[in-house]
Amino acid sequence: MADILKELEKNLGPKIQANVLLSKYTNFKIGGPAKYMLVADTSAEIVRAGQVAHELNLPLIVLGGGANVLVSDRGYDGLVVIAKNQQLEVKENKIFAGAGVRLGFLVTQAVEAGLTGIEPLVAVPGTVGGAIYGNAGLPQEPKGCIGEWIYSVDALANDKIVKYTKKQCQFSYRNSRFKKTKELILSAVLQLDTGDKVTSQQLIKKYVGARKGQPYNMPSSGCIFTNVEIKSDAQVKEAQEKLKGREKLDQFLECKQLPSSWLIDQAGLKGKKMGKAQVSTDHANYIVNLGGAKADDVVMLMSFIKQQVRDKFGIELHEEVQYIGF
Ligand SMILES: Cc1cc2nc3c(=O)[nH]c(=O)nc-3n(C[C@H](O)[C@H](O)[C@H](O)COP(=O)(O)OP(=O)(O)OC[C@H]3O[C@@H](n4cnc5c(N)ncnc54)[C@H](O)[C@@H]3O)c2cc1C
Repeated sequence: MADILKELEKNLGPKIQANVLLSKYTNFKIGGPAKYMLVADTSAEIVRAGQVAHELNLPLIVLGGGANVLVSDRGYDGLVVIAKNQQLEVKENKIFAGAGVRLGFLVTQAVEAGLTGIEPLVAVPGTVGGAIYGNAGLPQEPKGCIGEWIYSVDALANDKIVKYTKKQCQFSYRNSRFKKTKELILSAVLQLDTGDKVTSQQLIKKYVGARKGQPYNMPSSGCIFTNVEIKSDAQVKEAQEKLKGREKLDQFLECKQLPSSWLIDQAGLKGKKMGKAQVSTDHANYIVNLGGAKADDVVMLMSFIKQQVRDKFGIELHEEVQYIGF
C-alpha cells in the first residue's frame, strides 16, 4: 500500500488521501473507507487520475454527489475520485458544464441565461456526471431527463478523451452507454431552448413543490428500484391478472409503467425495518437510514422487498441504486 500511495502522490500530488470514510461522501451516509481518494477540481485532474490508475492497475471509480450509490461497509479497494470540476459556461443556447456541476446550480444558471428545458432536474440531487451516467430526471415528464438535452459528452475512454454525440451516449430509461463502459465522464454540452425567466421560475417552484411527501430530510439514495416497464400486450395481460382489482392499476398500465413505490406499498412493506434501514413510510421506493444503518442492513432489506414483490405479484424489481465495493 505504501508503494502505491507514493506512486499516486508522485503522479497526482499531495491532494491524494488514504483511508477516507465514504459515508461522508454519500447521501445515504453509509460506506466504509476508500483506500485512496482524490477530490478533483478540474477535468484534467480526473484524466490524470484515470491514466495513473490504469498504469498502476488500480481499480478506480468516480463519484459525483453520492446520491445514487450504496457503498459497501468494507469500502472501496482502489482510488475514488470525487468530481468537483464545477466549471460552467453559457454560450448562446448551449451550456458547457464540468461533470462535477450540481444539477440545481446548472438549472438556475440556465434560467438566469434565459434558457429553458432542464427545469425538471432542479430538485434531483447530484452532479451532471452522475445524471448522465444514469440518465437522471423525471421520465414521466416530456423531455424530463438529462439525456434529452445533451449535445455532446467528453469522457476518458482507454486513456484518451473522446467526444460522444447524444446518439452515441445511448440514453434510455435510467441508462446510458456509461453504465456499460465505465468510461469517466469529464464534461458535457447541453443544448437548450430559449425561454422566459418567469415561466421557468414557476416551473422550478412546481418541481420543488412536487417533492413534498418525499423523504428529503432523511439520508437515502432516492429510489432504490427502477419502475417496471410494461411494453407488450402480453405484459399488460399478465399484470392485469397478477394485480387484478388493485387501485390505480389501469392508470399505470396506460402509462406503460408500474411504479416500484406502488408495488412495494401494495406488498405491505412501508415502514419495514432491517437493522437501522427502513422502507420509508412516505415513499415506499425509498430506503432511509434511521441513523447508523449498515450497507448490509440495506442489502438485506432490498433482497426482502424483491422476494416479497416476486412472491406476491410475480414481478422482478431491478436496482436503480449503484453498488460500490461489493
Ligand atoms: C432524495 C433523492 C431524490 C432523488 N430523486 C431523483 C429523481 O427524481 N430522478 C432521478 O433520476 N434520480 C433521483 N435521485 C437519484 C440521484 O439524484 C441521481 O441518480 C443522480 O443523477 C446521482 O448523481 P450523483 O452525482 O450523486 O451520482 P453518484 O451517486 O455519485 O454516482 C452514481 C453513479 O454514477 C457514476 N458516476 C458519477 N459521476 C461520474 C462521472 N463523472 N463519470 C463516470 N461515472 C460517474 C458513479 O460511479 C455511480 O456508479 C434522487 C436521490 C435522492 C437522494
